[in-house]
Amino acid sequence: MPRQLIALPVNQGDAFFFRSGKRRVLVDGGGNKAQLLQLLTQVIGASGYIDAAICTHADFDHVNGLLGLFLPGATIKVREVWLPGRWLARPDLLTHPGAFFDELFEDTAQAQFNDEDDLERQGGELSSRETFEERNSDRGDELNAPELEEILDQASRRGGLPQSPFYWPFWDYVLHLPYSTPSHAQRFALVADIAQRIRELLVGAYQHGARIRLFDFSAFKRVGVPSGGWPGEFEPVNSREDRPKSGRSLSALDYLRLTVSNRESLVFWAPEQANAPCALFCADSDLGFGMQLKVPSRAPVVTAPHHGAESNASAYNVLNTWAASAPGITWVRSDRLQKKRPGQTFLGLPQPRFCTRCRFPNVSTQAVRLSVQAGLWQPTGSVSRCIC
Ligand SMILES: [Zn+2]
Ligand SMILES: [Zn+2]
Repeated sequence: MPRQLIALPVNQGDAFFFRSGKRRVLVDGGGNKAQLLQLLTQVIGASGYIDAAICTHADFDHVNGLLGLFLPGATIKVREVWLPGRWLARPDLLTHPGAFFDELFEDTAQAQFNDEDDLERQGGELSSRETFEERNSDRGDELNAPELEEILDQASRRGGLPQSPFYWPFWDYVLHLPYSTPSHAQRFALVADIAQRIRELLVGAYQHGARIRLFDFSAFKRVGVPSGGWPGEFEPVNSREDRPKSGRSLSALDYLRLTVSNRESLVFWAPEQANAPCALFCADSDLGFGMQLKVPSRAPVVTAPHHGAESNASAYNVLNTWAASAPGITWVRSDRLQKKRPGQTFLGLPQPRFCTRCRFPNVSTQAVRLSVQAGLWQPTGSVSRCIC
């Protein structure tokens, strides 16, 4: 089976189905549970399987669709779930959610941020500061696999998993604490929602029977070399498959800030093989971590960082330098109709480019299907080039 990449038309977010040899992976799931399940079913069938469902970071438009794989009635088999190791930095989100949300509520009362973009930016700043602190302090004990299993077991035995902050415990907090204000309530809703989706994906994957593998960005920062995955087939680019550290040194709010930080967004790739060019999945990363991938000799396919947003413009220098000696890059961009995206830098990239949704009002949404033919990434079926 030749390598295949399908950008599923999830509207908002990323969801890339990728097949190489016997491996099938899904990198992120877009923002809608039912839609992701339907789109993936069209590709592999309702009783199909994927080897790994991968989540790059905790933004809703990358996580929520993946939750659809664990809805009641979903029959696709998910063998493994690959998640950011950072998510286990506060295991008490799983084991003692009440206390975790109490702390989060207190944190939020004192914090200033307007929306998720603000929170993401603060997460990026925190992440760059944290390098130094982490090198010089012992941040708690490493979790081993039986401990992880015990944590997830405890979390799923609690039963009655809250579905959204508006269901539990959001109103409890907002209505019963004296100093809550509307903007405080909004901020708390936003961060509680992030915490809920992390919880839901971890517990959903565990209850599904998937093997959970954790990829730690902070371990990569310390060591500078990625590790783990399926070497030679599908590998991390900016994380290590180490046992993550747990501990209370991060506040509940800072922990959530880091999980939505684009700076910490996980990047993966399928390295070049004898007759197949590589595929690089950038998610929302700005590639500012010091990318050291083997230089491709064939034209790679690359997913547009952060849906082509100008805020990640520096990533294109990294990518163009990396692939300078290869005969061009095939770009794939997943997005909904957006006023600000893609940015000027993406618009200046040479073809071939493919979007699930180009930036003009009257164009339709498409699944971008590419496969390797005669050693080159080629569109299959009726896929239109980018007209952005
Ligand atoms: Zn995104
Ligand atoms: Zn386009």
